[in-house]
Amino acid sequence: MAPKIPSDVALNPATIQFLDHSPKKLFINGEWVNATHSETFPTLNPADGQELTRVALASPQDVDLAVQAARQAFEKGAWGKMNGEERARLLWKVADLIDSHADELAELETLDNGKPLRISRHGDIPFAARHFRYYAGLAGKIEGSTIPVSLSDQFVYTLREPMGVVGLIIPWNFPLLMAAWKLAPALACGNTTLLKPAEETPLTALRLGELFQEAGFPPGVVNILTGPGIPTGAAIVAHMDVDKVAFTGSTEVGREIMKGAAQSNLKRVSLELGGKSPNVIFADANLSKATRGALWAVFSTAGQECVAGTRLFIERAVYDQVLDGLVAEAQKIRVGSGFTPKVHIGPLVSERQLERVSAFIANGRAAGAEIVTGGVRLGGELTSGYFLPPTIFTHQDDGLQIVQEEIFGPVVAATAFDEWDELIQRANDTRYGLAAGVWTQDIRKAHQFNHAIQAGTVWVNSYGLFDSAAPFGGYRESGFGREMGKEAIELYTQVKTVWIGI
Ligand code: NAP
Ligand code: MG
Repeated sequence: MAPKIPSDVALNPATIQFLDHSPKKLFINGEWVNATHSETFPTLNPADGQELTRVALASPQDVDLAVQAARQAFEKGAWGKMNGEERARLLWKVADLIDSHADELAELETLDNGKPLRISRHGDIPFAARHFRYYAGLAGKIEGSTIPVSLSDQFVYTLREPMGVVGLIIPWNFPLLMAAWKLAPALACGNTTLLKPAEETPLTALRLGELFQEAGFPPGVVNILTGPGIPTGAAIVAHMDVDKVAFTGSTEVGREIMKGAAQSNLKRVSLELGGKSPNVIFADANLSKATRGALWAVFSTAGQECVAGTRLFIERAVYDQVLDGLVAEAQKIRVGSGFTPKVHIGPLVSERQLERVSAFIANGRAAGAEIVTGGVRLGGELTSGYFLPPTIFTHQDDGLQIVQEEIFGPVVAATAFDEWDELIQRANDTRYGLAAGVWTQDIRKAHQFNHAIQAGTVWVNSYGLFDSAAPFGGYRESGFGREMGKEAIELYTQVKTVWIGI
């Protein structure tokens, strides 16, 4: 069946060819195979609700085949004998291949996820390539230590060894980038992997599988299993021969993953979960910069970002001024298909997500909060896609669902604060602790805020910046474990202590 590509979009021939080969297959043991029961599912374009192509649905049997391949590759194949430099060469090749196929990968990302092509092409895709290079650089630098102990006839040292077979379960908001965030360190450390992309956005992960093949990775080192959380993701979590699961997604599913690990083989778990991040503007801030910062802290990616600055605290003296500026800027944001030139934000990823976000908006309204802009699904030529405009709430109680729960849509709740203790108490009044922002010209105030806030990342006079070298992860129910930087090595290795009698 020919893919239903928007007729007004000029795509690379390679993108069309990729979509044409339908259904997309699973990548197991270095080969592209159909699912054992030949089951498939559609992946849709959220800008128009049309099916892009069909994709194999991995059953628990397929998961088992992939685990066997990964185990074999870990214990018996060429991979286990490679040194860090050899793994680095392969990772570097993948990075180069991502760069040389960036146009095509960006198109697939925008078709599948909806985000503006400019952001896919100049944000997500090059960042994924850089991430592979960063961990290529670390592959040969994973070190243990020598330990002075009280027994003088003993020489003690530690080794950092790979975990073994690791399952990587990722969400739909940054599909290729999330794959890179997990695959690059897992492979640099010498593990073999099973990657399960989100069912809404499987395409770039599958294209990445082809690039791994082209780079020359031995069979079984990277396996790609498309399918929904249940059965595919759950089968990875339940498998007795998977040594670790690294997960990014909702706190709710994070809990299921911990349960699954506890009930199977006590596999290791690391979790990157939801957030409800406070973003604070003090009266002494550069207000035009802070207003734009607060705007993009939540509305970039249509709010579908775990760090989105969804609780905006504005010091009362400048509240009206900042809010007016924010509303004016929000109304200038261009919402539309990711392929429309100069569009700022695309659709929500799925009809289910649109309904979820719309229900939160309705709940806030019913509870007495005021919508100062947005709030209503966009129609006209956008009717068939899942588009919501930037939405700003005010006059909400801190206990409301829209203030406490992760919405994952273009919705911010703005509020005024009067003094320090009140601000810190309210900013920390959440079960999450992923990130926070603060805007002030007073370095002392910024330092005090950085210490007082319960969050894994704090941005001062900026928001939403990431780098492969900078650790990232949550406090509280936003998860545990740190991705990126040297810290990620701890997620994908275990320590062996060796005692040598001398
Ligand atoms: P999700 O359900 O947590 O999904 C994340 C990944 O886990 C997907 O690959 C999903 O598969 C898989 N999964 C789902 N149930 C599973 C299970 N029982 N066992 C193993 N894997 C499972 O997130 P979502 O449904 O995409 O979004 C729901 C909400 O989660 C959002 O509205 C947002 O609040 C939050 N979220 C947070 C992040 C973040 O980065 N912190 C990212 C995405 C979503 P399928 O999706 O293929 O079923
Ligand atoms: Mg899709």
